[in-house]
Amino acid sequence: MSFKNLGLSASLETAVQTQGYENAYPIQEKAIPAIITGKDLLGIAQTGSGKTASYVLPILHRLQHLSEEENRALHTLVLVPTRELAEQVRAVFQDYIVNIPERIKSVAVYGGVAINPQMQALRNVNVLIATPGRLLELQASNAVSFKTLQTLVLDEADKMLNLGFQEEMDRIFALLPKKRQNLLFSATLSEDVERINRLILTNPEVIKIEAKKDTIELIKQSGYFVSEERKGPLLRYIIKNNDLQQVLVFTSSSYKADNVADKLRKNGIDAAAMHGKKSMKARKDALRKFRNGGLRVLVATDLLSRGIDIEFLPHVINYELPRSPKDYIHRIGRTGRAESPGDAISLITPEELHHFKVIQKKMKTYVEMEKSDDLELGGF
Ligand code: AMP
Repeated sequence: MSFKNLGLSASLETAVQTQGYENAYPIQEKAIPAIITGKDLLGIAQTGSGKTASYVLPILHRLQHLSEEENRALHTLVLVPTRELAEQVRAVFQDYIVNIPERIKSVAVYGGVAINPQMQALRNVNVLIATPGRLLELQASNAVSFKTLQTLVLDEADKMLNLGFQEEMDRIFALLPKKRQNLLFSATLSEDVERINRLILTNPEVIKIEAKKDTIELIKQSGYFVSEERKGPLLRYIIKNNDLQQVLVFTSSSYKADNVADKLRKNGIDAAAMHGKKSMKARKDALRKFRNGGLRVLVATDLLSRGIDIEFLPHVINYELPRSPKDYIHRIGRTGRAESPGDAISLITPEELHHFKVIQKKMKTYVEMEKSDDLELGGF
């Protein structure tokens, strides 16, 4: 459906054209009109569904229709789980803000960097994107007031809850004006997300977008049976033997990510780890290098995978499986493209086999497995 029929202002329609978007994605088609009318919303959708623009556009539309004075106040708070997502969401707001006549200020705040510049940046902010912990710190220092807040967005609510932000989120809810619009986005509808849904949403519009199956079908998925001890050498064998470049490797913990990256480097493969325990600068540098082709292997945890906004990745290797099938789809989903299908390789120990079968069943796909016992991994 064209963006023309969704009720957006003429300047936002033009701003959308500037992005080169021709048609609204399904989530945008449903969410934009609902949010414009002020309804609460529950969006079950993954990254890649177009969910960010589905709330950014109607929020800006509502901001455009406020008086000058109201405009200057804090109107929207977007809570996100990670610094990367905070920056990404702000970038999407800015993409449109620079193309509309109204002066709207958006700011992203998150932990791991100095707080003072953020305090200063908050003056006259209209749209604040924040991770929960840093937001509470800023509120405790009186750097932000929620008196005028009209809209709350929880983006990737499931990730926020998985990361243990529940208590902070509850504290934030208690600080906000009771009467407000609430928009809740999550890749999955877990029990914890349901609790938040019941807690804050009133008669919401519910939108559920299934993960794009067609891109998943394009990806060549394969797996190796391997013992835990031989995983490292097998990983290096696969990379060296196939001369793979730009490889994204997933592990389930920060510790493991560091460990795998270390061993790759020791064996002459340029690699870096990216996870929640790395400084913002280290993460940004690693990502930039990886994106530009200056780093051969990036080893990441699932948490960080959402911040890796690389359009097309040829190779994803699951050194360890993610807990949820949704995360598996998310990990490999960034490889497939019509013109150049990517591949996703999973290294599966006997202990992981049952779980891998569950993932395949959920995805309704069958992954061809190879034995690795006979491979000579001595030199790797
Ligand atoms: P998101 O799910 O918000 O992370 O968006 C996924 C990607 O889709 C982003 O790179 C957007 O720039 C892009 N995108 C969002 N909406 C559209 C659209 N209507 N047409 C084309 N691309 C879009």
